[in-house]
Amino acid sequence: MFRSFLIFLSQQKSLRRWMEHSTFAKPLTRRFIAGNTLEEAIAVCEKVNREGILTTLDYLGESVTAIEEANQSRDHCLRAITMLHDRHVQSTISVKLTQLGLDIDADLCFENARELVALAKQTNTRVEFDMESSEYVDRTLSIVKRLHEEYGCVRAVLQAYLFRTEGDVAELNAMGVPVRLCKGAYKEPEEVAFAEKADVDANYLKLAKLLLDGGNYPAIATHDDRMVSGATYAPKDRFEFQMLFGVRRDLQRKLLEQGYRVRLYVPYGEAWYPYFMRRLAERPANVLFLVWNFFKN
Ligand SMILES: Cc1cc2nc3c(=O)[nH]c(=O)nc-3n(C[C@H](O)[C@H](O)[C@H](O)COP(=O)(O)OP(=O)(O)OC[C@H]3O[C@@H](n4cnc5c(N)ncnc54)[C@H](O)[C@@H]3O)c2cc1C
Repeated sequence: MFRSFLIFLSQQKSLRRWMEHSTFAKPLTRRFIAGNTLEEAIAVCEKVNREGILTTLDYLGESVTAIEEANQSRDHCLRAITMLHDRHVQSTISVKLTQLGLDIDADLCFENARELVALAKQTNTRVEFDMESSEYVDRTLSIVKRLHEEYGCVRAVLQAYLFRTEGDVAELNAMGVPVRLCKGAYKEPEEVAFAEKADVDANYLKLAKLLLDGGNYPAIATHDDRMVSGATYAPKDRFEFQMLFGVRRDLQRKLLEQGYRVRLYVPYGEAWYPYFMRRLAERPANVLFLVWNFFKN
């Protein structure tokens, strides 16, 4: 109930505008957001790299409605790829296609995405395409598959809560597209997604096995001990674990000590509200934790 309320709040545009400009927000968001600027975020990636953890850098922003905004996001991401390369940071970038204009024009979005992937190829890195709500899955996968065929250096994201995902895993495995498997972070109708956590978890374990046995270097993106244990039978060099900045540092360290590859998803930027609210919705206890810290500090 409270979770649904937090997801509802995450979609309120006026609240978003107010929160992103308020002065009291920064101390609240610090746990999950690596900073406002590219420089701050890269400094975090460098620190994390020194601990032996890889990163994927996410310039926050989604659902843009103006062409200039989509092009600005593209230019910012190009700058990020260049800077990561120049500073020898072990990092990919992650991006949402609605940030590159998917809601405005699919061709514009494709061209923006293509520029990022072309530069990623030149600089020997990869673009990871985050997955948004179910209405975007077909359009997102279609762009990722085209770019995979043209350049190769992409990663698709699939969500275990969707009924359709087993079919998508089979198709992407057959094409050799690397996949990040996550549980899924959006509020979805019951016609398309499992509503019960037990069903999502069971599907996650089943899909993870399909990816680990037949996929191309999958990423197991979860903080759930059971999901993690379900993947550890696979050879360590055939996949990586991925986790979010600010979540389960204990588990990140443990996996690293055991010799697994771990990549941290590092979000930054001023458009933090929807991302931050989804993190609260995943674990409503975070709300109490943040309020407690706010008053303590
Ligand atoms: C690297 C990465 C990339 C992702 N990309 C996408 C994407 O493109 N599209 C998408 O829909 N979703 C994405 N997600 C989010 C994902 O779908 C889940 O919503 C999120 O990871 C929580 O699921 P879980 O597997 O950790 O399991 P859960 O069952 O939600 O959590 C298991 C345990 O992990 C810990 N935990 C989980 N979340 C939090 C949190 N926010 N704060 C503190 N502790 C927490 C708690 O201890 C909890 O008991 C991504 C997640 C990761 C790790």
